[in-house]
Amino acid sequence: MLWELEQALIEISGMEAVSLHPAAGAQGELTGILMIRAYHRSRGDVDRDEVLVPDSSHGTNPATATMAGFRTITIPSADDGGVDVAAFTAALGPKTAAVMITNPSTLGLFESRIGELLEAVHAAGALAYMDGANLNAILGRFKPGKAGFDVMHINTHKTFSTPHGGGGPGAGPVGVGD
Ligand SMILES: *Cc1c(COP(=O)(O)O)cnc(C)c1O
Repeated sequence: MLWELEQALIEISGMEAVSLHPAAGAQGELTGILMIRAYHRSRGDVDRDEVLVPDSSHGTNPATATMAGFRTITIPSADDGGVDVAAFTAALGPKTAAVMITNPSTLGLFESRIGELLEAVHAAGALAYMDGANLNAILGRFKPGKAGFDVMHINTHKTFSTPHGGGGPGAGPVGVGD
């Protein structure tokens, strides 16, 4: 049953593999960011100590980055509520370990410039983390893994059972790409 659920989440998310281990979204985030830290370290890429987070993000994003030992850089939103691309690309660089993006965002808006943003992330040698808390809205329409996200968590308690924020037993599976 667990294996079948993982396969379903792989299909839904477009990621290459999923682990059901983390017990909540916040725990999935920490697991995911620690995996990103391990990835950079395994390649000897040890100077990346910054994580970019849009100002619309959930508080768990900067908290996760801080717990994993990174410095959080907050990126302002553009007038339309999406990420400000100019500020985002200006902040990206050899110090960037990861960016954390929630799509649709906590403002309820789909990040329409996601292709452009993720291209810039990978060109800078960083990895893209997707906060999947709002996956319910894009189910069957947008696969984060196919869009280029490298790691994500899925709040199964928000997407598939109780309404977002409605409580209930949590589960925060993480997915990874290549
Ligand atoms: C709810 C939420 C989280 C944290 O998930 P929990 O399962 O409550 O730990 C993270 N990010 C966003 C955008 C959320 O809405």
